[in-house]
Amino acid sequence: MSIFRQATSRMRCLKTMRVLQEYLDGHLDEVSSRRVALHLEECRRCGLEASVYSEIKAALRRKERPVDPDTLDRLRRFGEALAVGNATPGEIRENGV
Ligand SMILES: [Zn+2]
Repeated sequence: MSIFRQATSRMRCLKTMRVLQEYLDGHLDEVSSRRVALHLEECRRCGLEASVYSEIKAALRRKERPVDPDTLDRLRRFGEALAVGNATPGEIRENGV
């Protein structure tokens, strides 16, 4: 109801947004990060923002460690060898009968 209350909650949002990156990186001090965590729980907008950020961060982390092309190639060859290995006995049987 009160304008003052709205103003303070808006201030808290701005402050939270300002330190959100540091918070997600774990660079924030204990008191501040607890305050941010509390705000993210009670403020849907900031909580959503935080989850989007952490999703992006997770995606970036996954990209930093790409799958080794050699491993992929070896797996593909192994799969092909398996396919050939499975096909051969069937062919032999079909031709033999
Ligand atoms: Zn907020």
